[in-house]
Amino acid sequence: MKLTILGCYSATPRALTNTTSQVLEINNHMFLIDCGEGTQVQLRKHKIKFNRIKHIFISHLHGDHFFGLVGLISTFRLLTRETDLHIYGPKGIKEVITLQMKLSDSWTNYKLIFHELTSNNSELIFEDEVVEVHTIPLNHRVYTNGYLFKEKEGNRKLDINLVEEANIDMAYYRKLQQGFDVVNEDGVLIANEKVTKPGKKPKSYAFCSDTMYKEDIVPIIKDVDVLYHESTFLEKHAHLAPPTKHSTAKEAATIAKKANAGVLLLGHYSTRYDSLKPFKEEAREVFKHVRLSQDGKVFDFN
Ligand SMILES: [Zn+2]
Repeated sequence: MKLTILGCYSATPRALTNTTSQVLEINNHMFLIDCGEGTQVQLRKHKIKFNRIKHIFISHLHGDHFFGLVGLISTFRLLTRETDLHIYGPKGIKEVITLQMKLSDSWTNYKLIFHELTSNNSELIFEDEVVEVHTIPLNHRVYTNGYLFKEKEGNRKLDINLVEEANIDMAYYRKLQQGFDVVNEDGVLIANEKVTKPGKKPKSYAFCSDTMYKEDIVPIIKDVDVLYHESTFLEKHAHLAPPTKHSTAKEAATIAKKANAGVLLLGHYSTRYDSLKPFKEEAREVFKHVRLSQDGKVFDFN
């Protein structure tokens, strides 16, 4: 599992910082999460292959999270993309994108598939053999979802010596990897755990931005390996968090602690601050494993 931060600041793009966007590589998937202005430039800078992006997840319709989307869709068209593109986001996202395409008469020659979200409960919105994606309903000034990405339990590993000792026909190896008990050549039922070991531990990643402190997301993200939680403000501006429906670094850390997250990644910093160090310091008072997102930073969580 690898995460590339393309942008992690709030509000406006600046000379050296970008608004929210990140790429999550998980089990051969490449998911784009949010798409602030300038995302396609950042993708190019970080040499991310455009055609590997097949799914885009948008948290909410504030500009700093999706103003790059129509540009990216248009660039895909100019690059003669043919692969389907799935876009997940709040109801209205289809209208805002297609209106721009309609007025500029620039329809795509690839399929654009919108998955509009309206529920206030966590839903399973994507699933294949290796990964599933659930929404995390957040509390912001407009309808907002975070996203939880989860690898599925991988195949079990055969202990080849034990398998051979147990006199199991090779034709059953696949069944064993899938976790089934099998009957050996002598007609005896062999328990799966006797001849296999658990496969690689599945990884999970939760993206939570933008939101004010919302404790009821904790059960949804319980025991997540990596939690990205917005931390727009430091303690000295904590009074600004509730009216703008954002969080402080300390609140992000409290959620991480209650959820028993492996690592907390802070981000969505207000552009009023010159240094990010205090974010880490304040969060660490509550939760130990804190890391700072920074534009261009790549986190390898394998
Ligand atoms: Zn917002």
